[in-house]
Amino acid sequence: MCGIVGYIGSRKARPILINGLLRLEYRGYDSAGIATIEKNGIKNIKNKGRVANLEKTEGIDSLEGTIGIAHTRWATHGKPSKENAHPHMDNSNTFAVVHNGIIENYAELKKDLKDKGYNFISETDTEVIPNLIHYYYSQDNSNDELRVLRAVTSACKDFKGSFSLEIISNFDPNSIIVVRKDSPLVIRNLSR
Ligand code: GLU
Repeated sequence: MCGIVGYIGSRKARPILINGLLRLEYRGYDSAGIATIEKNGIKNIKNKGRVANLEKTEGIDSLEGTIGIAHTRWATHGKPSKENAHPHMDNSNTFAVVHNGIIENYAELKKDLKDKGYNFISETDTEVIPNLIHYYYSQDNSNDELRVLRAVTSACKDFKGSFSLEIISNFDPNSIIVVRKDSPLVIRNLSR
């Protein structure tokens, strides 16, 4: 169990995401992290321990983006550590993912991705997600606005288990993609 929160809109994402994490912290407090889309691409900041530690982490005050995702972790695969904290990114630092749940077949997917040349820096099941999305993105030759969504859809077909995901990408900097399979996910319009 862990907590994920995302924001897309006209307000600065960071305070909204931190507030969301504080409200979800009862679901996990091994580590916390936040990724926002900044002018020069995704900025990913994470730390071990509670959300209070994340709030003190260098660079967090400089996040200005109005689109972002965040996570507070209760580890299922890999010890509580900064390396295992979410958001996780692919090797090219183009896709950032937060994940609630378990990818049951992650070991097999990780082996396939390693055989294709992908490297892994965490012990989590989650890290296969951004890398598999990147793999499908790289295999798609059509360059339309649905390319990222198609890559996410293809990757999700390979995952076994239950999960909620939020994904942002430098290739689609005006969107958050959310996915849920047998796990809860609520989408709310804050302007109402
Ligand atoms: N399986 C992921 C991890 O260990 C997500 C954890 C969770 O949902 O609690 O990082």
